[in-house]
Amino acid sequence: MRAIIASLVLLLVPSLQASAQVEVQGVRVWAAPDNTRIVFDLSAPVEHELLELDDPQRLVIDLEQARLAEQPDQPDADDRYLKSLRSGIRNGNDLRVVLDLKRDVTSKTFQLKPNERYGHRLVVDVFPADGNKTVGSPQAPAKSVAARSESMRDVIVAIDAGHGGEDPGAIGSLGTHEKKVVMDIAKRLAAKVNREAGMRAILTRDGDYFLPLRRRIEIAREHHADLFISIHADAFRDRRVHGSSVYVLSQDGASSEAARWLAKQENAADQIGGISLNDKDDVLKEVLLDLSQTGTLEASIDVAERLIQGLGSTGKLHRRDVQSAGFLVLKAPDIPSVLVETAFISNPDEERKLRDAGHQNRLADAILRGLRQYFADHAPEGTLLAAREKVRRHTISRGDTLSTIAQQYSVSQDKLKQSNGLKGDRIQVGQVLVIPGDSDS
Ligand SMILES: [Zn+2]
Repeated sequence: MRAIIASLVLLLVPSLQASAQVEVQGVRVWAAPDNTRIVFDLSAPVEHELLELDDPQRLVIDLEQARLAEQPDQPDADDRYLKSLRSGIRNGNDLRVVLDLKRDVTSKTFQLKPNERYGHRLVVDVFPADGNKTVGSPQAPAKSVAARSESMRDVIVAIDAGHGGEDPGAIGSLGTHEKKVVMDIAKRLAAKVNREAGMRAILTRDGDYFLPLRRRIEIAREHHADLFISIHADAFRDRRVHGSSVYVLSQDGASSEAARWLAKQENAADQIGGISLNDKDDVLKEVLLDLSQTGTLEASIDVAERLIQGLGSTGKLHRRDVQSAGFLVLKAPDIPSVLVETAFISNPDEERKLRDAGHQNRLADAILRGLRQYFADHAPEGTLLAAREKVRRHTISRGDTLSTIAQQYSVSQDKLKQSNGLKGDRIQVGQVLVIPGDSDS
């Protein structure tokens, strides 16, 4: 028996050697504000070496026992770092890829194992050599001076379009990428927020590139965000499932099996997008940080409830309650954070809607309504919104009439009806009325 195995091994060895050639199946270039990432799709892990050379500045990547399946595309003309890409055979069997550069860079390289979406990958990240990492982290569009108050600051809303770059997120049956539609919705929402007096939006990403989950939180923090809202589109194996849901971070596990499953999908972004070893420790840190999150969790739930109200008045809700799960992207201990699953991209009807500009606007409006409501009660000290008169509300209890409420708050019944869109005198127990302020009367 042993002899048979030995001869089998002998037979196998030569064929293994013959198939040892690694095929580079494609080269993808992703330009982000902080860096440019070059991803080589490989048929197997590869031995490689990276050299940074001057005169002219270039990166040389030698891949042992490798060949290109086809000639890769050239980088975009407006890429900040890359001028061109060349390749050649070396030592008969090795592949040399040369990246000609526009400027001095530092680079790092690492390999990624296969996941659900991609096979083996070799990643080369290129950063500016001067260490100034934030060449241009996305900024809020400049706001007109008139919209700003001299002494009161705006509330800052960090809007995070999920996924990006080589991580497309969920993909609908029409081929719609989640990363694309959530970027559209995020940009529409940012524009609307910036038109509101006392509010300002920042986008964690403003293009099609990969951002580690942790970096998204960092950007929000760098801009002193008062609120972090991550925008996604759900997917589920049952195509009939539809509607919006809003999530907050959970400290003790997910509120449902579906929530747990979803968190796993969204958290996988870092495995798909690829984080290098250096980043891994920091992700771990984020996980530990959630222990100190209790304070902002209440605020997060409050935002989430307002967003559900807003979304519910626009379209169908998948869940009426705030859902919770261990989303990595929500683990900012100091910023109330919510994750909105706008719709199910896996539902063909909702996939079509997600691509529709009108529907994207309606979703953004619904989220904005939720933000207004939230900040009406929770605007941080020192903001223009906090300085405004707090919106007064009255919840109808048994025995209340329009007349008694009008008397109680010294407003006219007509004004009360007008502010609440009431046609007649009928009110219901539990109904909430907005009480108009003096300035309105
Ligand atoms: Zn997502």
